[in-house]
Amino acid sequence: MERPHTTTRRVNLYDLAPGDVASALAPFVAPSFRIRQVQEWIYARGVDSFESMSNLSREARADLAARFSLAFPVARERTEPAHDGSVKYLFTLEDGALIEAVYMPMGSRTTLCLSSQAGCAVGCTFCVTGFFGAGRNLTPAEIVGQIHRVRHEQGVANEALNVVFMGMGEPMLNFEHVATSLEIMEQSISLKRVTVSTAGIIPGIEELAKLERRPNLAVSINAPDRERREEIMPITKKYPLEELIASLRRFPLETGRDITAEYVLLAGWNDSVADAATLAKLLRGGRFKVNAIPFNPDPALPSWMKRPTDAAIDRFASALMRHGVPVTVRRSKGNEIAAACGQLRGRTERRRAAPKG
Ligand code: SAH
Ligand code: SF4
Repeated sequence: MERPHTTTRRVNLYDLAPGDVASALAPFVAPSFRIRQVQEWIYARGVDSFESMSNLSREARADLAARFSLAFPVARERTEPAHDGSVKYLFTLEDGALIEAVYMPMGSRTTLCLSSQAGCAVGCTFCVTGFFGAGRNLTPAEIVGQIHRVRHEQGVANEALNVVFMGMGEPMLNFEHVATSLEIMEQSISLKRVTVSTAGIIPGIEELAKLERRPNLAVSINAPDRERREEIMPITKKYPLEELIASLRRFPLETGRDITAEYVLLAGWNDSVADAATLAKLLRGGRFKVNAIPFNPDPALPSWMKRPTDAAIDRFASALMRHGVPVTVRRSKGNEIAAACGQLRGRTERRRAAPKG
């Protein structure tokens, strides 16, 4: 197995887009079907060493290992499976940064919630990741490595996977690496089963719109109007809600796809029937579905923030539906680990930064 704390600066093949892997290998791996074999080990199997590539000669493997690396994050801890089977993983990165990912089995399918940054600078006041402050961008290898590690440990086939960028960080502030990781993922997972969630970084959404093949888009709306959104998502001052919605209306969508509007439900703050009507008006026009996420409390978060009662959640969802907006409620059994996707802290020992705002 590759050790994460390597001192040599070999190029990590998981950091390269698939086309660049082929050209990086070409001078060292002949003939071309051998390149395809290496790619198969990387993309279909997700191996973390050249040693595992049993259909390559010993010399070829040693030669490749001298030039390239296949390192990805090491799982340092994992929680006991919750009632719903979900497991939270804590990974250590090469520089000691910690990130989390969540494995969520759901019948015949499995959803993996990935981190894109080791922290988050956006500073939403209801989010534990935001509370702990900014962290660095993850490399493509660190992003796709989360998938391979969990997949191997849990024995999940690529075909059964859904991937959501809803762990730590703001994917649209790490656009380039996220885009490369999507190209890599696409070798084994259809982008129809990949969702990128953003706090509404308009330039990032516009970059994503330009990609030839795009994942599903989810946007954290979280409040029915600009004033309230500014209160809990300071980023709204930079990217106003109206402009965000306008950019989402321009976003190219394939037939049958929608944009998911995530909406964290805070008791007595944004969960009334009137709020549902305002939200429905904001999202009118049919290209949005709402994913209502009951707030998950945490000691690090403001104490006024409370999860609504089940009855209030149902009332809100029904009101949205009456206004013609499709809605799903993310129901987690109690405050299970799956509920934690989207509020990962990555570090448990100490507080890194003061809360924003
Ligand atoms: N930065 C991206 C992706 C990570 S957050 C984004 O903001 O979209 C993923 C989701 O988790 C977001 O929709 C966010 O609103 C939600 N979330 C964050 N903290 C939460 C909490 N305490 N309770 C419920 N949902 C939360
Ligand atoms: Fe960052 Fe998303 Fe949390 Fe906001 S909700 S602080 S953007 S991770």
